[in-house]
Amino acid sequence: MCGIFGVMGHPEAANLAYLGLYALQHRGQESAGIACSDGEVITFHKEMGLVADIFSEDILARLPGHTAIGHVRYSTTGSSELKNAQPFVVDFESGSIAVSHNGNLVNAHLLKQELEVGGSIFQSTMDTEVIVHLIARSKRGRIEDRIVDALSQVRGAYSLLFITRDKLIAVRDPHGIRPMVLGKIKGGHVVCSESCALDLIEGELVRDVEPGEMIVIDQRGLQSSRPFFPAPPHFCIFEYIYFARPDSVFGGVTVYDVRKRLGTELSRAHPVDADVVIPVPDSGVPAAIGYSEESGIPFQMGLIRNHYVGRTFIEPQQSIRHFGVKIKLNAVKGVVEGKRVVVVDDSIVRGTTGRKIIKMIRAAGAREIHVRISSPPTAFPCYYGIDTPLRRDLIAATHNLDEINTYLTSDTLGYLTIDGLRACIPRGEKKGYCDSCFSGDYPVPLDVQESDEQLPLFRGSVRI
Ligand code: AMP
Repeated sequence: MCGIFGVMGHPEAANLAYLGLYALQHRGQESAGIACSDGEVITFHKEMGLVADIFSEDILARLPGHTAIGHVRYSTTGSSELKNAQPFVVDFESGSIAVSHNGNLVNAHLLKQELEVGGSIFQSTMDTEVIVHLIARSKRGRIEDRIVDALSQVRGAYSLLFITRDKLIAVRDPHGIRPMVLGKIKGGHVVCSESCALDLIEGELVRDVEPGEMIVIDQRGLQSSRPFFPAPPHFCIFEYIYFARPDSVFGGVTVYDVRKRLGTELSRAHPVDADVVIPVPDSGVPAAIGYSEESGIPFQMGLIRNHYVGRTFIEPQQSIRHFGVKIKLNAVKGVVEGKRVVVVDDSIVRGTTGRKIIKMIRAAGAREIHVRISSPPTAFPCYYGIDTPLRRDLIAATHNLDEINTYLTSDTLGYLTIDGLRACIPRGEKKGYCDSCFSGDYPVPLDVQESDEQLPLFRGSVRI
């Protein structure tokens, strides 16, 4: 769960990276950073927090150069602290390099052990640092060859951006699990996680970076190669369902359109007599519109979201029931009172949010509540870069449909099936996707047999 952005050949590279990261903020809110090259030196700045709070005009002015990469982070491996913020910048014998990574490596813990036995000292607890060590140890000459050498030893999900003194290098893993798109802007090239970042900077989307593709951009222009053993594509289906911004485009298809189609399919699969369809904002909105259009049941905003909720808030001393969810969402009494309500959300993970929302809508006077989820039951953890709890904490891994419905306190509950989901996704029936969170079918083999525990990637040291 991270967002990455890179630009080369633009006089305002740091400013563009700042704006690009701003558009990708939904992909990670823990830390953000930008590294720039002026052709000689790599300068960088990173901090914990949100993009807009970290970067000032003054800081951006101290990041000179025509080449920049940036990163927003939500940790999936490594703890949430500054030493794990990216871009990760190091100096080694052939110069400086900065890297931004979205994804998760599944064999990083083994590689790290081997490297440590060989004398390597790690500064962070991120799997990305393993890649940097492998690059530094490679016996190859050119940086792009060293990167290929390093990446041919790792397994898992990676969309990576590197800058050196004079190059921007983008690499997507052979399965293309995490997204990455190529764009252009006034003589410059951009590579980033999602096309919504290009829209903000008035760039133009060129195409997706292909699975297993390496793009090297330098003074001579752009060169594309396929240096890895080819593998079947497995783009993360959850990007379409929840993670990406609805205005982003992957494979020529707008995420919003897919989500609406999921709602249409959901309405066909689980129709119900009801008075109103309401989304859980913001994630359930497009699917709820699709459900409403297909069923003919009016769409209303029956839940209102407060967009200004920070990471922490001070709870009142006298405890308020369901405070955590109430501070984020509130039911609109006039919309739900006395009504038979269809509540649409994209997914249920632990089930705790859903249960609180149902109680809130019931307290606002709803007569019936029918929960409709625009994805199949989330029954398996993700090991490729989406932050999910342990398998035992996923409600669909341990409870059947009736039990989940009882826990939520809803009147009825309906999920999409995996086939129903695939029918809504471009080329979905060909299984060009990773749907392991629903199917348990992991395209990159895991080192743990029973995927009940998250991989013990880096326990790290504990500072007290
Ligand atoms: P839960 O209470 O754990 O069932 O949370 C379900 C809600 O979390 C849904 O409304 C989803 O939109 C949202 N969600 C799904 N996956 C994730 C994720 N990986 N990180 C954060 N939120 C998520």
